[in-house]
Order: sequence, then structure tokens, then C-alpha cells
Amino acid sequence: MDIFKTIDKLYENNSCEREELIYILDNLDIESKRYLLEKAHKTRMKTYGNTVYMRGLIEFTNYCKRNCVYCGIRAENKNADRYRLTIDEILECADLGDKLGYKTYVLQGGEDPYFTDEVMVEIISKIKKKYPENAITLSIGERSYESYEKMFKAGADRYLLRHETATKKLYEKFHPNASFENRRKCLNDLKKIGYQIGAGFMVGLPGQTNEDLVNDLMYLKELEPHMCGIGPFIPHKDTELKDEQAGTVENTTTMLALVRLLLPNVLLPSTTALGSIDPLGREKGIRAGANVVMPNLSPTTVREKYSLYDGKICTGDEAAECRKCIENRINRTGFKVEVGRGDNINWTRR
Ligand code: SAH
Repeated sequence: MDIFKTIDKLYENNSCEREELIYILDNLDIESKRYLLEKAHKTRMKTYGNTVYMRGLIEFTNYCKRNCVYCGIRAENKNADRYRLTIDEILECADLGDKLGYKTYVLQGGEDPYFTDEVMVEIISKIKKKYPENAITLSIGERSYESYEKMFKAGADRYLLRHETATKKLYEKFHPNASFENRRKCLNDLKKIGYQIGAGFMVGLPGQTNEDLVNDLMYLKELEPHMCGIGPFIPHKDTELKDEQAGTVENTTTMLALVRLLLPNVLLPSTTALGSIDPLGREKGIRAGANVVMPNLSPTTVREKYSLYDGKICTGDEAAECRKCIENRINRTGFKVEVGRGDNINWTRR
């Protein structure tokens, strides 16, 4: 196999055999990596151009009933300083976001039983009543079909639920008392209901191989999500993975570029985790085909507490500073910020 020809084929067809993807990951060197990034960039220019969409992230609770082994807000972490925002505080974040020009809110949190369907419906309805033009993205984990449906009917537009890893064995290792199949069922349910869905995975999980990463790519190609969140695994001091190595910028940008080629229309964030392992991580992600950033809108008083991994950036900056900082970074990288809703280009509004 010739790696350049394989990348060419991927660029032309936006698809690839499993063996070809393994071959690329096993044989990528400086030259072929540069070529891969160039093709990913060309692809994004054909679909979304040099636009980077901004979403305002509201981290509204760090209570969580799950025990994901890598995560700093896992239920059993007694050191986590728990908080949840009130409905009024969430609405204040929405006001601030609208003032700063964000047309999309991402409401993210742990799986917190306090936020029942009724409470979520109230939050979603209140935001939508005030800002009917703004999109609401939820990222609150696994729930029932009925729950997803109620929140959709209340006005939620999109849902982020990373599949985390498409290898069952690895999934089970990191998610005690959770079901690999149920997480996938949730993604299918969300899609069926009519959400724009976001899947995604971590790069560099302890024990993860290139075969596992190819499983992620093959699963994404099959699922065809509208969005895909990819970030490096970063150890958290209060977890049993505290002494493990973090994922690397190189491997993360490789995966971003491959996903851009496999799913040319996907909305692909350059994640905070990527920015946290390298001061220019997000810029590198954007150059690898990413076209979304999610600056933080949460009150600075809770930023540190929403601690999924160590070394999270921007915990001290006011939302307005984050907004400006990110825009400057994007401009300096030669891209332009777009503050519209930024729906997937295959999407027709309901
Ligand atoms: N409770 C929601 C939101 C999870 S937090 C849900 O279940 O979907 C968002 C993402 O952060 C997770 O999907 C996971 O991929 C990522 N994450 C958690 N811990 C991390 C760590 N230690 N390093 C890097 N990413 C992490």
C-alpha cells in the first residue's frame, strides 16, 4: 500500500476500508501527516469554507450518578466540590451568551437526577421563549427515549453524546455498571426523534490501540452524526488513571483530519481538552479540519469545579474575555468566526 495514494482515495471517496485506515495510522510520518492535514483542510474548504462556528458552553451541574473511570466528576470522587446552577442562573448565562452574540447554547452536565424531564423542559422552554432563534444543544448523558422526546418537543435542537470508544471491551473497562449497547441505542433514539446528534471519542485512553481508533472511525462513518467531539484523554488527579499518559496533540489532530475526510459535512469541534494539553492545541485542531469552538459561558465561580480532567484552560476568564480570546486566535490562524446557529449543511429546519 502507498500511504499517499490511500489518503488520496480517502479524499476522493470520503470512505475507506478498515485495513486502509489501519495502514494510515500505523505508517503516518511527518510528510504523510502534512499531506493528510492538507487534504482535510481542502475538504473543509469545500463544505464550510474557512468558517469556525462558536457555541456558548454552560456547564450547569457537576453532580453525576455515573462512575466513568477517567472522569473527575464521577459519582465516587469524594473530593469533587459539587454544584448545580439554578434555573435563574442558567437563564443569566443564556442572556450573557446572547449579548456576546452566541446563537447556540450547549447545556452540559453530569447525569444529575435533580434535572428531571420536568425541570429540563422548563429550562428549555424558558430559553426558547426568550430566544426563539437560538439553538439549544444538550449534553447530559443517557436518558430514556421518552425523556429525549419531551426535551425535543420543548425545543431542544441538538444532543451531544460521545460514544467514548467503539470497542466494547474498552468501553466496559472504563464504564462500570454501564452498557455499551445502551449508549449506542441512545444515539439512535436521538437521531430518530429528530435531533442533530453528536457522537465522539477520546484519543489516548490507556490501552487504546490503532485498531480501537479505527473502530471509532468505522462506527462514525456508519452512524453519520451531524457533529463529532474528539479530544485527548487527560488524567484527573482523583481517579485511578491519575498516573497514566495523556493523549497527544499529534494523535488527536490525525483523528480530526480522518473524521473530516470520512464525514466531510460534519461539525467538528476543536476541543477545550485539546487546548489544555497545548497552548496552541485548538489552533492545531482547526488546521486539521475542525470548524467549531465552544467557549465557556459558565459563571467563573463554578468553572474550576467542572473538572473532568486536570489542567483545564480558561477557568478564570470571564465569558466576554473567552469570546474575544477565541475570536483572536481563530483570526490569527487565518479562519473567520461565524456567530450564526451553524447548523449542519445537510440539515433542514423543522
Ligand atoms: N454526562 C455527559 C457529558 C459528559 S462530559 C455525557 O455522559 O455525555 C463531556 C465529555 O468529556 C465526555 O463525553 C468525555 O468524552 C470527556 N471527558 C471526561 N473525562 C475526561 C478526561 N479525563 N479527559 C478527557 N476528556 C474527558
